[in-house]
Amino acid sequence: MTENAIRHVPVVIVGAGPTGITAATLLAQYGLDCLVLDRWPGVYPQPRAVHLDDEIYRVIARLGIADEFAAISRPTLGLRLLDNRSQRFRVLAEFNRDPSRSPNGFPQANMFDQPELEALLRANLKRYPNAQLRGDAEVTEVTDTGRRVRVTFTDRSDGEVHQVDADYLLGCDGANSLVRAQIGSAIRDLNFQQRWLVVDVASDADLRQWEGVHQVCDPVRAGTYMRIGSARYRWEFQLLADETADDFGTIDALRSLIAPWTADVADAELTLLRVTEYTFRAQVADRWRRGNIFILGDAAHLTPPFVGQGMGAGVRDAANLAWKIAAVHDGTLAADVLDTYERERKPHARHMIRLALAVGWAMTGGGRVGSLARRAVLPRVRLIPGLRDKVVDSTTPALHASAMVRKPRRPRQLAGTLCPNPLLPNGQRLDDVVGAGFALITTSRPDDADEASLRRAGVVVLVAQPGSALQTWLRRGSANAALVRPDRTVMRTGRDAAALCAWTLTVLHRR
Ligand SMILES: Cc1cc2nc3c(=O)[nH]c(=O)nc-3n(C[C@H](O)[C@H](O)[C@H](O)COP(=O)(O)OP(=O)(O)OC[C@H]3O[C@@H](n4cnc5c(N)ncnc54)[C@H](O)[C@@H]3O)c2cc1C
Repeated sequence: MTENAIRHVPVVIVGAGPTGITAATLLAQYGLDCLVLDRWPGVYPQPRAVHLDDEIYRVIARLGIADEFAAISRPTLGLRLLDNRSQRFRVLAEFNRDPSRSPNGFPQANMFDQPELEALLRANLKRYPNAQLRGDAEVTEVTDTGRRVRVTFTDRSDGEVHQVDADYLLGCDGANSLVRAQIGSAIRDLNFQQRWLVVDVASDADLRQWEGVHQVCDPVRAGTYMRIGSARYRWEFQLLADETADDFGTIDALRSLIAPWTADVADAELTLLRVTEYTFRAQVADRWRRGNIFILGDAAHLTPPFVGQGMGAGVRDAANLAWKIAAVHDGTLAADVLDTYERERKPHARHMIRLALAVGWAMTGGGRVGSLARRAVLPRVRLIPGLRDKVVDSTTPALHASAMVRKPRRPRQLAGTLCPNPLLPNGQRLDDVVGAGFALITTSRPDDADEASLRRAGVVVLVAQPGSALQTWLRRGSANAALVRPDRTVMRTGRDAAALCAWTLTVLHRR
């Protein structure tokens, strides 16, 4: 193959899982051509993720499939911690979420089936002619030639080897990422490894359970139960040292584990869809970028699924990076903005993994002493002011300061957090009005000249009306104006709206 014959695409994405397809759709929305390569012809069929929060739902809505996702998902009530004493469950604590909408505009906890979501994501990507997905394409090598990134892949249907050149390469190729290895990134282990059994069951019978996530706190056999859909259920159980998934291959063999939820349901009414073993790990890659090659999603971090945030972290990575690449590519922002991807996302991903480990510990840690402590403390947790709200609140931490998150040293800072997504007076949600660009949310309208300049720079101006949700939000951050990035993270706030407007115009310039 001669150099001239090698096709060039601005962005190549390795991996068409939820992270890769989210990145591709957003890049396409920002007007950038991209090619997604995946080694398999279709969606990975095995159910993995079952929960996502309102922040991730908001990204899904940005992709254009909010209604479709609503049709395949189920808002859930919250979390119940159970004590397993002599095979009898007792509720230690219950944290109810308001299943109605949140500041992000969507329910705070949602159950779904990952292959169904991935099928929606892929079908939606077809609406964007500037994004191409090629299945049966196994990437074997990624090299940075200095000017461009050369990607070598094999078409698995005929064995033919192809090459494509890209300005940027996104490694969304999962836990065993080839791209991660090729950029010399090493995995840092956060010292957690447990073998769990994952069980998916279909049943038209009503199990008559509380409609939230049940966590069984048991140092010997921790477990989780969730209703995924109208006729779908998921259990996850910690495996004992001498057990494997083969020991639980039938409903009969599973009975001892699922009996507390299914005692009144006959075997014939329960269809075992899948029973498999997973080793849950907690890991973060030490570098997420080399030159214009980036890693995202499970390629960059792995978490045990105790708070249902693994896939969410990948979607957050894609939302964080896509607009930056688009802005650098079209010359709106300088290339060093790309440094902020790892700087912002790594601490956030690490925080969410630590949260999952803490919940895992609350379920299993401390042996007999831990069990006694749980029985004593957990029933009272909901009584501690503020703590209950913290457990129930789905809001994730603010991003760390970076060139794209400017935080003055004062409390109650909005920079690094997501702006809300309320209904505006015209009946539309903020995200639908703002679209793919920056937004300046301000209590006082800029003068005509400034507003025209902002518009030319692609910034949507939203005036927060007195008494509106946006004004209340600005007040909470002691601000009169906020500059919001395309991923809806607040970049900077100010008391002086005119000064923030002028600053915005110095930051955003088009070539
Ligand atoms: C039991 C279990 C429960 C979970 N529950 C939740 C939950 O409730 N909520 C949640 O948010 N997360 C959950 N997760 C995690 C979630 O499933 C993953 O984090 C998510 O799938 C990662 O998405 P990804 O796109 O980064 O990687 P993947 O989904 O692994 O996709 C990677 C893609 O890259 C492709 N690929 C790999 N190598 C190559 C190559 N060399 N060339 C071409 N293509 C390649 C693969 O074929 C694959 O399609 C759970 C995981 C498990 C195992």
